Amino acid sequence: MKIVVCIKQVPDSDKVTIDRATNRLNRAGVPAIINPFDENALEVALRLKDAVPGSTVTVVSMGPPQAEAAIREALSRGATDGVLVSGREFGGADTWATGYTLALAIRRLGPVDLVLFGKQATDGDTAQVGPGIAHHLGLPVLTYAQSVEVAPGGNALKVVRATEEGYEEWEIDLPCALTVVKEAGELRIGSLKSKMAAKKAQIPVWGVAELEPNPDFIGLKGSPTRVTKVFAPPVKSNRVRLDGAPAEQAEKLVEILQNRHLV
Ligand SMILES: Cc1cc2nc3c(=O)[nH]c(=O)nc-3n(C[C@H](O)[C@H](O)[C@H](O)COP(=O)(O)OP(=O)(O)OC[C@H]3O[C@@H](n4cnc5c(N)ncnc54)[C@H](O)[C@@H]3O)c2cc1C
Repeated sequence: MKIVVCIKQVPDSDKVTIDRATNRLNRAGVPAIINPFDENALEVALRLKDAVPGSTVTVVSMGPPQAEAAIREALSRGATDGVLVSGREFGGADTWATGYTLALAIRRLGPVDLVLFGKQATDGDTAQVGPGIAHHLGLPVLTYAQSVEVAPGGNALKVVRATEEGYEEWEIDLPCALTVVKEAGELRIGSLKSKMAAKKAQIPVWGVAELEPNPDFIGLKGSPTRVTKVFAPPVKSNRVRLDGAPAEQAEKLVEILQNRHLV
């Protein structure tokens, strides 16, 4: 089985601030990690690789040159190879332009059986890129996969989806795309052999020369959506000040508790 896992490098902090002028994240100086849900997607891929002899797991990331570290980390955990999609032209991409660009990279890898994503990125948080890429590639997609195994016969997958109400069991033909939730499994540590191989691995960088994108569809220029404002909801205070004599305050307190159905 030829498996691709899309991994995004995200800030390893809840202290990331927003640039009020551009509504983008201030990433400078913040340590970066593989998006946690992408680690779960990678673990799903590695389990399928273990189950189906001859399988390969290619990780693909779009980002600045330092995103290479995320790919190397994925290789150290057992991925077969990786590609970094990088170039100034891709900067400022929204989910549409990100999906278009990553889909070009996946197509360049040749026919694939399965494309895996995390359920969402912990910085952008839109959960749009996986289904968007599936659309670009013409693949069926299941979201929120929490368990994945090869169906008898080997041409389909049995997938359990986590929903708000419970679980759904699905069967989906290959080739297909899945977005994966945390419950799918914690990413393995990686063997000494894969760690050594990751250190030495050559990671190709694909830019506009390799992907030959339509220049109107990439980066900020090719992004039909903009974040126009980022704000936190106003904090609603439930505090009530009780004034007057103690008996009056007690009466008022009982009234408030009754109105809120607390007594
Ligand atoms: C505060 C904020 C709000 C934003 N809101 C929007 C918005 O509403 N609409 C919009 O179009 N853009 C938005 N963006 C931009 C968004 O961060 C980028 O488009 C980003 O590249 C992809 O979106 P995401 O992070 O939401 O990914 P998601 O769609 O949440 O990611 C899902 C999965 O797709 C894969 N993936 C995503 N990005 C990459 C990548 N670069 N390389 C490899 N795999 C990847 C991973 O497997 C990931 O788990 C926002 C950015 C910020 C900072």
